[in-house]
Amino acid sequence: MPITPLMPVYPRCGVRPVRGEGVYLYGEQGEKYLDFASGIAVNALGHGHPKLVKAIADQAATLMHVSNLYGSPQGEKFAQRLVDASFADTVFFTNSGAEAVECAIKTARRYHFVNGNPERHDLITFDTAFHGRTLGTISATNQAKMRDGFEPLLPGFKYANFNDLEGALALIDDNTAGFLVEPIQGEGGIRPATKEFIKGLRKACDDHGLLLVLDEVQAGYGRTGKLFAHELYGVVPDIIAAAKGIGGGFPLGACLATEEAAKGMVIGTHGSTYGGNPLAMAAGEAVLDVILEPGFLENVEKMGARLRQALEQMLPNHDHLFDHVRGHGLMLGIKLKSDSRRFVAHCRDNHGLLTVAAGDNVVRILPPLVIDESHIAECIERLSEAARVYVPAADD
Ligand SMILES: *Cc1c(COP(=O)(O)O)cnc(C)c1O
Repeated sequence: MPITPLMPVYPRCGVRPVRGEGVYLYGEQGEKYLDFASGIAVNALGHGHPKLVKAIADQAATLMHVSNLYGSPQGEKFAQRLVDASFADTVFFTNSGAEAVECAIKTARRYHFVNGNPERHDLITFDTAFHGRTLGTISATNQAKMRDGFEPLLPGFKYANFNDLEGALALIDDNTAGFLVEPIQGEGGIRPATKEFIKGLRKACDDHGLLLVLDEVQAGYGRTGKLFAHELYGVVPDIIAAAKGIGGGFPLGACLATEEAAKGMVIGTHGSTYGGNPLAMAAGEAVLDVILEPGFLENVEKMGARLRQALEQMLPNHDHLFDHVRGHGLMLGIKLKSDSRRFVAHCRDNHGLLTVAAGDNVVRILPPLVIDESHIAECIERLSEAARVYVPAADD
């Protein structure tokens, strides 16, 4: 078999969407799917949101791209709004999550470099973490499936067990720059960090002059009912990476930092040809307009609680299959007692419900942030029916 023109790195399924409308996707033959995957937590406003569509269309007709060699009224305005809404003092815009994490890693290293401690270059990261697919970001996880065959990887990362504060603190030495951690692991299986863990990492950073770098690419941007997930923990990070929901489907990411943490990022130290171009800024502003509307985040929290409650009510009816629900807001996971990939495929192919499989046999439930009660009811109906007729594989 010759290689396919589209490099065959994804196990693509039979769903071939050609159109989206709100919380629904439509395939080539008109098949309709309830989309509780949202392009993996990207389509925060669902599909075809009129505000986002209009903002992109208007900006495309006005000015799509200019180089970062020129002044950016669009970037200045959007960055100011993110600064006003968060812990950060400054923002670098990227085109993806991995690039936002790369910028975060570079910012952390430069901080210690300009402080006269260039030997402090190691970030302590965590088991089952996911930070992206660039060489830097695969080096920041110890998951073999992402690293195998790509060695030599980037030095400067050490790995502790997620939620194991003692283990993480034990790795601190003269070369440590800080910690890089997802407040809620997404790909790893919707594993929320405990409060003690995140607070303990913050305290260690304060005690040892280290930086707390959070990867909020999946958990951030309204997904948990807070603009950023660290707000749930009552800690203030030094640097975060955001992406996924930030552009609502337009490729956009951001690295946000405090003035202190970003002090090494001076002229010439970093760049991106596309990063933060006027079209991306228009998309980002339209999404932020909606997310910051009064009541929007409260409604995410409310819908998250309803969905969780409905899932928890359903679980005991299918005791052979479901274990428990975890997560925050509209970033929920159902831990299964058997292979989650197979059940996700069953829901998709036989019940018109899109979810995402994750590590630890978890089914990720990541609906658009604009769902209402009717979508929750429909999801539960489809999930229950899918579970009722499901026969796990004999070897599961
Ligand atoms: C998706 C994801 C990334 C990578 O984002 P890309 O846009 O695919 O580069 C990084 N970190 C986390 C936590 C993610 O969920």
